Amino acid sequence: MLRTGKEHLESLRDGRAVYVGSDKVDDVTSHPAFRNAAQTVAAIYDMKADPANRDDMTFEEDGGRHAIYFLRARSREDLQRRMIGHKRIADLTYGMFGRSPDHVASFVTGMAMKRDELKPPCGNPDNLLNYYRHIRDNDVYTVYAVVPPQAARNPEFYHRQNIPVPTLRVVREEDDGVVIAGMKMLATGAIFANEIWIGNVIPLAPEQKKEAITCAIPCNAPGLQLWSRQPTETGCMSEFDSPLAWRYDESDSMLLCDDVKVPWERVFVHDDALLSRDIYIKTPSHCFGNHQSNVRYWSKMRLLVGLCSKIAHATGADQVPAVKETLGRVSAQEAMIAGMVNGQINAFEPWPGDGYVCFNRRMMYGALEWCTQNYSKFVDDLRELCGGGVFQMPANISVMNDADLARSFQTFWQTPQCDAVTRMKLFKLAWDMVGSEFAGRHQQYEKFYAGASFIIRNHSYRETDWGAFNGIVEDLMAGYDHLPSAKSAAA
Ligand SMILES: Cc1cc2nc3c(=O)[nH]c(=O)nc-3n(C[C@H](O)[C@H](O)[C@H](O)COP(=O)(O)OP(=O)(O)OC[C@H]3O[C@@H](n4cnc5c(N)ncnc54)[C@H](O)[C@@H]3O)c2cc1C
Repeated sequence: MLRTGKEHLESLRDGRAVYVGSDKVDDVTSHPAFRNAAQTVAAIYDMKADPANRDDMTFEEDGGRHAIYFLRARSREDLQRRMIGHKRIADLTYGMFGRSPDHVASFVTGMAMKRDELKPPCGNPDNLLNYYRHIRDNDVYTVYAVVPPQAARNPEFYHRQNIPVPTLRVVREEDDGVVIAGMKMLATGAIFANEIWIGNVIPLAPEQKKEAITCAIPCNAPGLQLWSRQPTETGCMSEFDSPLAWRYDESDSMLLCDDVKVPWERVFVHDDALLSRDIYIKTPSHCFGNHQSNVRYWSKMRLLVGLCSKIAHATGADQVPAVKETLGRVSAQEAMIAGMVNGQINAFEPWPGDGYVCFNRRMMYGALEWCTQNYSKFVDDLRELCGGGVFQMPANISVMNDADLARSFQTFWQTPQCDAVTRMKLFKLAWDMVGSEFAGRHQQYEKFYAGASFIIRNHSYRETDWGAFNGIVEDLMAGYDHLPSAKSAAA
């Protein structure tokens, strides 16, 4: 089944408990903080359901037609199809939706390709497969909260005060399921999603058994609250003044569970701290999910390169040799991520077991590390090209509502390259990428969405065949010894 945008919006009117400060949101599809981003999510669903996009965006399996990101890949061509689907979704939001519906779906799909890693008795491979089928067949939008709340690492502090440790855990087992309580960070997109996957992508200590719970809950589960950060949409004067914040704020929420019941059939791992992390890295899950992130980043880089070029033209600096060099550099960086995405497909890896294949893991982690480390630098290139132009513009476009001000604005703000309104439109867009609240959130997102940098580097370390690298050095060293070489012997 493929949902339309309208059907998806309908599914969000389900009584979920969303808070913006003390404001309880009744309907996320019409609330001023969320309505435009909700429409963006609806547009993704409509694009997927459009028969004109059938080949790129869908596949057939088990008698139904499904979103392409549920495809369990058996060949290089399947991986290519997945990438094209991610790219079309990312292009629709210019890479601004990190947790679009294809992100966590890719984690679950990758896990379903090697479900026997969910080893009983603590893991449940059948529940996982059934969940995969449920979200695939009903076109469900799932997001995740898979990191403990920051600074809650010292249980003693809470024990001393006789208050609960805030980290989400199982507090009770009942005949028909488990009861969970506590917090988890940071469910990006949950406000626009149907389900939340709860788990642990960061290793737990073996004794943290009760925190190891890996499960899925609906966004309207009784006892669940979503505490939103400050939404960017509410700070916008107009779409013209803040074009990205207006439409593309995907939202981030803390998850607060007050005795939420999870039926056994939605529990995937229980009481095994090591297994709760292994299920991502011993299956294609982590690689599938983060390949989507690489593709999304590529879309964002394309917008960034376009903005650098347009801004340089608007300031009249585009023909200066040093500026051309900057443009050549940012273009090379876009080509780099394009190459890294395609390389992961060309150097794909068979996954041992059931005949499935995966993107090249080392190349995926290489791209992830590169993306995470460089986003702020790329944004800074655009910042430098903007100069003070962003603050030369009036506070907002309402100047055009006053005939005298409008005349002055159009007369004095025009340049040989641009009329005043077009120029302002471009610089406002650039500011939403470089300096606005929305831009700041994106810089934080690109640094941390896959974990802090040491986590990403540990993934890269783990996947490296160090024997191969050591072997190169050993081979080279084996080609000579301490005996005099022919040259020194002749001398
Ligand atoms: C915008 C945004 C969206 C997010 N969306 C999601 C989401 O959808 N789902 C989700 O589950 N999570 C999400 N996250 C959370 C994200 O996964 C975490 O922020 C990330 O894992 C880092 O964890 P932390 O915030 O607890 O930082 P910490 O782990 O506390 O790290 C803070 C700093 O300390 C350093 N540090 C800490 N420990 C070490 C160490 N042992 N060695 C070296 N340096 C160390 C880190 O490098 C970092 O610079 C999101 C985060 C952001 C910012």
